Amino acid sequence: MNKLKELGVTVCEHIVANIRPIKLVVHNHDNTWECMCGEIDHHDFIDSKVIGLNHLIEFDNSILPIKQLPVGCVAERKAKNAQWKYYIIEE
Ligand SMILES: [Zn+2]
Repeated sequence: MNKLKELGVTVCEHIVANIRPIKLVVHNHDNTWECMCGEIDHHDFIDSKVIGLNHLIEFDNSILPIKQLPVGCVAERKAKNAQWKYYIIEE
């Protein structure tokens, strides 16, 4: 009787605290998602959280296009209102 679960996205502490925009989105090969600020000052993701993708889009609707991001791809942008650029994750 499980309901269809909302897609969960791992977000870094800066996104959780709403102090930085989402600038890096990863759709991993194991079908997990990560949304991060794209900076390098993280501490092993101790403070990362899993948030529903729809919540995240409510919080920042400029990430809406990345809902279409295929498995094994990365979306990256330089600023909140910059264009998304897409890459394939190398294995
Ligand atoms: Zn961060």
